Amino acid sequence: MTNELSFFPSPFKDEDLRSVIKRYHKRSCNKHEIESRRELLNTAANTILPRNIDFLLQRLPYNFKKEDLIFKHTLFPILFPFVNHGKKATLLEDISVIKDAKHSSSLYLNKFVSKELRYCPECKKIDIKKNGEYYARRIHQLERFNFCNIHHINLEDEVGNTIFSVQHDDILLLKPILIEVENILNNERILTMGNELSYRYLAAFFEKSYITRAGKPITYNFIEDMWNNYSAVLSRLGIDPHFLSMHNRIWKMIRLEHKTPHPLLHIIMMKFLKKSIDNFLTDKPTPILSEVPFGTGPWACRNHFCEFYKKPIIERVVLRLLFLSALYADLFI
Ligand SMILES: [Zn+2]
Repeated sequence: MTNELSFFPSPFKDEDLRSVIKRYHKRSCNKHEIESRRELLNTAANTILPRNIDFLLQRLPYNFKKEDLIFKHTLFPILFPFVNHGKKATLLEDISVIKDAKHSSSLYLNKFVSKELRYCPECKKIDIKKNGEYYARRIHQLERFNFCNIHHINLEDEVGNTIFSVQHDDILLLKPILIEVENILNNERILTMGNELSYRYLAAFFEKSYITRAGKPITYNFIEDMWNNYSAVLSRLGIDPHFLSMHNRIWKMIRLEHKTPHPLLHIIMMKFLKKSIDNFLTDKPTPILSEVPFGTGPWACRNHFCEFYKKPIIERVVLRLLFLSALYADLFI
């Protein structure tokens, strides 16, 4: 290929693509990083998620799967499972090519992912010893999680300044959530689930009596119980009961219909419902197909005006889909 790059660094395990681009820049003869970004992506934009990645893939001097670059080297996996099918396609397209002036994919992660790369000083030392250079890991890029999950020390910015001084209590509180973020970042199953994720939410809600048999959600009870269990961590993440109940947020989230999904809240919801993301994703969901009411038929008609009132003339029952092809209600015909 005529436009093939003469070199491109191989990404390290869990390396953020922005970090790979930085390492490319250090080896290039370019004066400013903006030139390197243009060279690689044909855009100067420095965004959380890459833009125009197809351009880069066409020019790589070695084969690299697009899926691997997007799902193993960006923070996209913390957003992707929590949007519906149509939005998934739109976001992927937005990463693949430049459609228009607006780059929406990164906007969804603005509140959750640091715009500037962050590093653990200890991981850095280990990297230099092992590889001769250091890199930025995805797991260190989450806002409000300002510590290394392995070394339990403060993260630093590009020039070695401590980002925030983290207290031991913060680490104790937030580490279980960070472990689940890591789980999602490396979990291929959740990426392929699609609407099954929503179904699992519905089944877990049903199991804990947060949905009536008729399919009516009781999110008030869910919010109250989750808050009682996770108020400390929710508060630390800037979430309060009002936020949870605003605009029917919980119900929209479990149906993957919320316009701005909150990945950390999803993690806490799943943990609250099933103790861990692993359980949530792998436990056999409780069947939520309603039992046929009133035992086996035939059933008596209950319409006072019917000539067959109280006579067992109803022989068939059909199950009607209520929502998301997942929850059913019984309907006599
Ligand atoms: Zn570390």
